[in-house]
Amino acid sequence: MTLIPGDGIGPEVTLAAQRAVDATGVKIDWRRCELNEETILRKNEVLPPEILASLNRTKVGLKGPVTTPIAGGFPSVNVALRKALDLFANVRPVHTLKGVKTRYQDVAIDLIIFRENTEDLYAGLEHEVVPDVVESLKIITRKASLRIAEYAFRYARANGRRRVTAVHKANIMKLSDGLFVRCARETALQYPDIEYKELIVDNASMQLVMRPEKFDCLLMPNLYGDIVSDLTAGLVGGLGIVPGANVGEHHAVFEAVHGSAPDIAGQGIANPTAVMLSAVMMLRHLGEREAADRMHDAITQVYQDGKHLPGDVGGTASTAEFTNAVIRLIQA
Ligand code: ATP
Repeated sequence: MTLIPGDGIGPEVTLAAQRAVDATGVKIDWRRCELNEETILRKNEVLPPEILASLNRTKVGLKGPVTTPIAGGFPSVNVALRKALDLFANVRPVHTLKGVKTRYQDVAIDLIIFRENTEDLYAGLEHEVVPDVVESLKIITRKASLRIAEYAFRYARANGRRRVTAVHKANIMKLSDGLFVRCARETALQYPDIEYKELIVDNASMQLVMRPEKFDCLLMPNLYGDIVSDLTAGLVGGLGIVPGANVGEHHAVFEAVHGSAPDIAGQGIANPTAVMLSAVMMLRHLGEREAADRMHDAITQVYQDGKHLPGDVGGTASTAEFTNAVIRLIQA
């Protein structure tokens, strides 16, 4: 297994997840790869070949966040990795976690975001046309749109989900988002057992805040997927608890929705739940169902007990205290 701790809170939360996975008894040979702001600046390389070589060998990785400089600096490592390994599907399950106080105490939120992971405005094609006028290119292709739509519908069918809603802005971006939506419609025809709906992204944002319990699978291009992921994380208690997977044909890299959270890095207070739940997804991907269930149940039990909750969800437990509580239950 390739383990990329990343930077910011990455090393703290990935260590927590690694300890919890090891506690399940599944024997994993962790290949630790350093990839963070410091190594990138030192090597002057966003994605050093040894990282790709490790992932090409192991096929599966658990990754912490890597800081992306804002308005300048080197390009996003996270985006570069997704592109390099063609990890086209970003899958982010967002569930109510009993024991976490939210504004939605009376409803159960259980939705999954399927975010196209390789193109859209993340293509990184920007240039200054003339001074003070810049252009960013939004790339949408039939191939990538069909691929993520097919992944979402296939997942929905295999996992007993009922509905896929494509989220777009095709009323304005008639060509680019129009193509995305046409690909979703075309795919939906092959899945008559799954209900298909469409929502314009602004309306989807409002509906998600008003009636989050109504949503099932959400299919969207890259940028809306990024923004709506954080919105939905906010519905269930914040970024500390929402996991994710980047899946391609040959590789899968599991990572939380959150970033490197520099504001709390190094303090030992980050919530490791999101990376732990990403590791649960990883165990399922590896076919380790029993261990995945045990780890998942231990995490949810700690929340229900309410004695060792991290600060971001209203508790006072440190990263290590929360992790130890999870490990005690895994081993019970
Ligand atoms: P990126 O754009 O790289 O995804 P971001 O802009 O979404 O990053 P984050 O680094 O995810 O920003 O942090 C957003 C806020 O959420 C910060 O206040 C941070 O402290 C908080 N946060 C993120 N992850 C966690 C966590 N695991 N535990 C506690 N708080 C977190």
